[in-house]
Amino acid sequence: MLYHNALGFQGKRALDVSRQRIGVWLVAWLMPISGWAVPDVVVSIKPVHSLVSMIMRDLGEPQLLIEGAASPHQYAMRPSEAARLADADLVVWVGPSLESFLVRPLTQMRAVSSRELQLQSNPLITPLKSRGYSFARPAVGRTKGSVDPHVWLDPKNAVGILQAVTDTLSQMDPSNASRYAANRDHAIQEINEIQHNVMRVLQGVQSEPFVVFHDGYQYFEHAFGLNYAGALALSPERQPGVRQVRMLMDTIDQQSVTCVFSEPQFPSKLVQMIADQTDVRVVSLDPLGTDIAPGAHLYAELLLAMSDAFQRCLSPVRD
Ligand SMILES: [Zn+2]
Repeated sequence: MLYHNALGFQGKRALDVSRQRIGVWLVAWLMPISGWAVPDVVVSIKPVHSLVSMIMRDLGEPQLLIEGAASPHQYAMRPSEAARLADADLVVWVGPSLESFLVRPLTQMRAVSSRELQLQSNPLITPLKSRGYSFARPAVGRTKGSVDPHVWLDPKNAVGILQAVTDTLSQMDPSNASRYAANRDHAIQEINEIQHNVMRVLQGVQSEPFVVFHDGYQYFEHAFGLNYAGALALSPERQPGVRQVRMLMDTIDQQSVTCVFSEPQFPSKLVQMIADQTDVRVVSLDPLGTDIAPGAHLYAELLLAMSDAFQRCLSPVRD
């Protein structure tokens, strides 16, 4: 304390300047000869993490923020995750319509010049409006007319995401731009192949009506021409009430729906009750790839698992 006081204002300033110099030397020493290092990337959800992995490949591994079965709609960050976020060079997320828990930390990070790539507002993504139609009242923050955040479920948007990630990483790390571009070309080819496979799997069942628990599949339905009849909830944070369940039952009856998609987040008791009281098939559908190991291959596996679930649920009942 005495030393600090004796140093006075001038002395303290000199100390700060010399600290800054040491900082510059350290950074210069840690930098690889070829230029700035590959950026440290944090990605919010598994499917987008997979697309980023396809662009980075052997150059580096992006970190995944939401692991396990948690839904991004009502996520709360742990302190260790907040620290990872603060240390990142780049944060890739869908946007405020999905990961509302990221809005505040990212606003704070913008003040210290960390970079972010928000997908829902990106010009390379074609957004769809939230339908606002379900058997439930609109959920808070998901009213009719806002962007439906499940953009990754249309393979054309996946290609847009690949391009946006390539552009951002090439700007931040120009020495590897040609490798990011080569990985992008390879990834686009892969996604075109998946699209054809999904089309093949869904052939013949596209016109069959179905009901979902959470209105999260609009992009997939549009991309592959499926026949959506309604949703029990707009997002999983609102559990349906008795009235909503009754309306769902009526729709199942009136439109001769034979298929209901459940999700891991919804109570299995409710799914069981609907299955018992109607003559529908109930198949589980997962837009996030909860059971698939994260990585570059996840996106393909996710779309194929989804097309498989649609095929099983919508194919004609044989007695
Ligand atoms: Zn959702």
